[in-house]
Amino acid sequence: MKVIYTDVLCIGAGLAGERVAVEAAQAGFDVICLSLVPPRRSHSSAAQGGMQAALGNSIMGEGDTPDVHFSDTVKGSDWGCDQEVARMFADTAPIAMREMAFLGVPWNRVVPGEATYYKGGKPFQAVEKAENEGLIHSRAFGGTAKWRTCYTSDGTGHACLFTLDNRLLQLGVTVHDRTQAEALIHDGVNCMGCIARCLRTGELLAYVAKTTLLATGGFGRIYSATTNAVICDGGGHIIAQDTGIVPLGNMEAIQFHPTGTVPTDILVTEGCRGDGGTLLDVNEYRFMPDYEPEKAELASRDVVARRMMEHMAKGNGVASPNGEHLWLDIRHLGEKHITTNLREVYDICMSFLGVNPIYQFIPVRPTQHYCMGGIRTNKNGAVYGLKGLYSAGEAACWDMHGFNRLGGNSLSETVVAGRIVGKAVVEFLKGNETSFSTQAINDAAAKVRARIEALTHGTEDAVALRKALGEIMLKHVGIFRNGPVMQDGVNQIQELLERSKNIGIKVKNPKGFSPEISMALRVPGMIKLGLTAAYCALQRTESRGAHSRDDYPARNDSEWLKRSLATWEEGKSLPTLSYEDATPWFEIPPGERGYGGGKIITADIPSEKIKPFGQEKK
Ligand SMILES: Cc1cc2nc3c(=O)[nH]c(=O)nc-3n(C[C@H](O)[C@H](O)[C@H](O)COP(=O)(O)OP(=O)(O)OC[C@H]3O[C@@H](n4cnc5c(N)ncnc54)[C@H](O)[C@@H]3O)c2cc1C
Repeated sequence: MKVIYTDVLCIGAGLAGERVAVEAAQAGFDVICLSLVPPRRSHSSAAQGGMQAALGNSIMGEGDTPDVHFSDTVKGSDWGCDQEVARMFADTAPIAMREMAFLGVPWNRVVPGEATYYKGGKPFQAVEKAENEGLIHSRAFGGTAKWRTCYTSDGTGHACLFTLDNRLLQLGVTVHDRTQAEALIHDGVNCMGCIARCLRTGELLAYVAKTTLLATGGFGRIYSATTNAVICDGGGHIIAQDTGIVPLGNMEAIQFHPTGTVPTDILVTEGCRGDGGTLLDVNEYRFMPDYEPEKAELASRDVVARRMMEHMAKGNGVASPNGEHLWLDIRHLGEKHITTNLREVYDICMSFLGVNPIYQFIPVRPTQHYCMGGIRTNKNGAVYGLKGLYSAGEAACWDMHGFNRLGGNSLSETVVAGRIVGKAVVEFLKGNETSFSTQAINDAAAKVRARIEALTHGTEDAVALRKALGEIMLKHVGIFRNGPVMQDGVNQIQELLERSKNIGIKVKNPKGFSPEISMALRVPGMIKLGLTAAYCALQRTESRGAHSRDDYPARNDSEWLKRSLATWEEGKSLPTLSYEDATPWFEIPPGERGYGGGKIITADIPSEKIKPFGQEKK
C-alpha cells in the first residue's frame, strides 16, 4: 500500500478545511487536503445568503458590535452553546471577514445615499452614510438584532470557496480529490492520519500525518428530505465514531430550514426573507406576524419552521401532488433585486421548479438543513479522545450553535474556526514530536480491507437501507418529537443496523471505480449516526431550540444545560452516552430568547459561573 506523508492532513476541502490548510501552509507546513469531489464543488459552494460578522457598516447594522452578535448567538442557541466559544467566534468574525476581503472575496459594498429596503413585505427608505462608501455591506437574517450578514449577492459560499481555493493554489497545497477517508489511523492515544480509498481506482492509500483535521461537513443525508448535497453523508463523523473513543456531541440538535423548495428540497436562502420576502398560506395570508408579532418571518429558524408546520396542521397549507406546502413571496422586491442580489434563487426557481419568482410565489416547506452537533472538540478544535486530531466547520461540535444555529453563522464559523483551529494546529506542530506506528497503519488498513471483502458475500442492498433510514429519521426524529415515536424510530434503526452487517455489492470485483462500493462502505456508519441522533434525542427530556418535544414542552435549564456526548463501542447496538456542562461560564445567564415563547424550568446558576457581559471586561 502506498504511504503518503504530510505534516497536516485536512480531510475535507470545503471552507473550513481550506481555511485551516491556508493557516498551516502559511506557517510553512506541508499540507494535503482530501475531498470526495473537486474542492470547489464542496458543499460550502452551495451556501447562498451570507455570513455574519458585526461590522456595523450599513445603516441597518449601525451600532452593531461583537457583543450584540454574541448575544444573538447565545439566544439563538437557546442557551445550548458554549459561551466561551461563542464569544471567541463573535470577536473574531469581523477580522476573518476583512481577511476574506483581502484574499479577494467580492463582498457587496455600501453605496452611499438613499436606499429602498424591505421589511415584512413593506418598503422603507434609509440613507447609507457617505463615510461608509465601499465598506462591506450587510443584509438581515433571522434572530439578529442588527443587519449583520455580509454577502456576495446570494452566491456567498461560492465566492468564498473559490477565493480560498485560489489561495491554496498560491500556497502550493496538494489536494487529492475523489478520495474518500475510510478509517483513522490511531493507537488509542494518538491520531496518525487515515486510510483512504481512491474513488477513481479503488486503491487504498495510507495518509500518515502529524496532525489530522476532520472538516467533512454535515450529515444531512441521513434524512430523506434535506437541502444537503449527496456528499453530505457524515464521512468524518463516521470514522471518528468508528474509533470507539471519539465522542460526538449533541447529535440530537438538527436544524430544519423553513424554505426548502417543493418538490426538490433545494434551499432558497433566508436572505429572501432577510431582504423582505414574506410567507403566505393557502389564502395568500401573511401568517407569521400572528405567531411572532415582533420578528415575524425573521424569528430563528427553529421557531419559523415550527410555526409553518403548526399553520399547515391547522388546514392552511397549499395542497399539491408533492405534499402540502406554503408560499414564499418575493415578488415585491422587483426584477432588478431578484436577478442581482437573489440571482441564484431566481435560477433555482426557474430551472428546478418552473416558477418565475418575479411574478410567482415559491412553494416552500421546512426541510432538514444543518447539523449543530458533531465531532466534539475543545475551544481550539482539538478532538476529545485522540491527540493530533482536530475538527472544524459543520463536522465539528465546537459548539457555538447549541440547539439552533442562526442563519449566516455557519459560513462564518467555517472561516473563523478555520482561522482559530489552524493556529492551534500550527502551535501543536511546533511543540510536538510524533512517532508513527506501522502496526497502527496496518491495523487500520486491514479493517478497511476486511470491510470491502465482506461486501462480496453480503446480500442486503445499501441503497434500500439508506432510503429506509432517511424516511425513519424524517418521521421519527423530525421537527416535532415525542418519546414513543422516537423509541419506535430507535427500534427500527436498530433493525437496519443489524441488516447493514450483511450489505453486499452486485459487481463482485471490488476494484476500480465503483460508486456502489463507496455507498456500501458509508451506509452502516450513516445508520449509526442516525441511531445516535435518535437515541440522544430520546434521552433529552426537554425542548430546546430545534429539539422540540410534545411530551416535554419546557426548556429545562435545571436538568438539561448539558451537552450529550456519544461514543460507540465496537459490537454494541447503541451508543454510550455521557454528559458535560453546556458552557464553562455564562456571560448571559439563561433567560427568554425574545421569540418562540415556551415554558422555561429555571436553574440556579452559581455566581462563580457568571462573568461580566461584554468585551470591556477584558
Ligand atoms: C443550500 C445551503 C445553503 C447554505 N447557506 C448558508 C448561508 O448562506 N450562510 C451560512 O452561514 N450557512 C449556510 N449554509 C451552511 C453552510 O454552507 C455549511 O454549514 C458550511 O459551508 C459547511 O462547510 P464545511 O467546510 O464544514 O463543509 P463542506 O463545505 O460540506 O465540505 C466538506 C468537505 O469534506 C469532504 N469530505 C466529506 N466526506 C469525506 C470523506 N469521507 N473523505 C474525504 N473527504 C470528505 C467533501 O468532499 C468536502 O470537500 C448553507 C447550507 C446549505 C446546504
